[in-house]
Amino acid sequence: LELIRQADPEVAEAIGLELNRQRTHVELIASENFVSPAVMAAMGTCLTNKYAEGYPGKRYYGGCECVDIIEDLARTRACKLFGAEHANVQPHSGAQANMAVYFAMLKPGDTVMGMGLSNGGHLTHGSPVNMSGSYFNFVPYGVSSETEMIDYEDVRRIALECKPKMIVAGASAYPRVIDFPKLRAIADEVGALLMVDMAHIAGLVAAGEHPSPVPFADFVTTTTHKTLRGPRGGMILCREEYAKAIDKAIFPGTQGGPLEHVIAGKAVCFGEALKEDFRTYQHQIILNAKAMEKTFREEGVRMVSGGTDNHLLLLDFTGTEMTGKQMENLLEEANITVNKNTVPNETRSPFVTSGIRVGTPAATSRGLKEAEFAKVASWIAKVLREGEAAVPEIKKQVEAMMANYPLYA
Ligand code: PLP
Repeated sequence: LELIRQADPEVAEAIGLELNRQRTHVELIASENFVSPAVMAAMGTCLTNKYAEGYPGKRYYGGCECVDIIEDLARTRACKLFGAEHANVQPHSGAQANMAVYFAMLKPGDTVMGMGLSNGGHLTHGSPVNMSGSYFNFVPYGVSSETEMIDYEDVRRIALECKPKMIVAGASAYPRVIDFPKLRAIADEVGALLMVDMAHIAGLVAAGEHPSPVPFADFVTTTTHKTLRGPRGGMILCREEYAKAIDKAIFPGTQGGPLEHVIAGKAVCFGEALKEDFRTYQHQIILNAKAMEKTFREEGVRMVSGGTDNHLLLLDFTGTEMTGKQMENLLEEANITVNKNTVPNETRSPFVTSGIRVGTPAATSRGLKEAEFAKVASWIAKVLREGEAAVPEIKKQVEAMMANYPLYA
């Protein structure tokens, strides 16, 4: 930061403000995390200077022998971590990883099934406002209105009816285990390809805390920056038979030069994820989510599907005056960062919503354990009950708590 301050004080000041925000807030956005200093350092290296279109050993530029070592390390470690046959570590983001799989395997207008956005799916799983939904005929599936968990019988019924070329599984706001063998069986029954977007749960999968989609899916896409705790970016895993098509769909299909400095961050992240410490961390993410679940239940806060199996919970204020937007704002004033989120059978607009999404990966990286998470859940419940009046005291307590967990000291 000192180097930036000398060269550009305005940018340095804004970065300093953000660092202070991250240090003093409890971060509960389910898709965020705090990378290790090594991952962060890898991204700020000379690798950012290098063009390397193509793949290790087959580049369109000279001078790639060193970045080849790095990209090979990232690919090999990714395959080892997830038991995959092939890895493409070049996607700049999760959205680009998904688009590349579609580009490789589908023709415009093909029918694809994806989890609906309001049921927890991602924009890139067929939302009409996203390229996925405008280029392909996405047919949504969702959760049962009774259990608020994926209704696999209904998924099968829709698949038999619309005969999709591909079924996309995975979600951004689904607190339960996804049954990949069941989805594989449905895909086989209708002759569809199965793509699993494990962006949210990749770290849990790597550590054995969520069943792996890799043995069941033709393609597994992910971001590297959520539970996996790597740099912002994407990745595609697939069987060897699809390796060429996937690589071609990333470059030259949908991207230009890879970001080798980010790929170095991915290699460091995968190296960290292969260590025992990472398993302990992922297990703690689940224990912490369970601690929040217990407190929310005791406090009478409604949770979608009644609780959680993974790293996130969806709180549902349907039928009350409180909206997701209001709650997000109130909690922000109290230094608790969450995001508003639609809930199943949502009655409000996506800008207002009836719920919030609460995740444990980032604050678990700070070092918070069950007792602290239970406390945070009780503060959230208090803000829900008392509104603005509860904010000043809770803000003080959050700041005092977070001071005990130094970040990038
Ligand atoms: N897939 C899922 C399930 C996600 O939750 C997200 C982002 O939140 C993405 C893909 C997109 O990732 P990115 O923001 O890196 O494009």
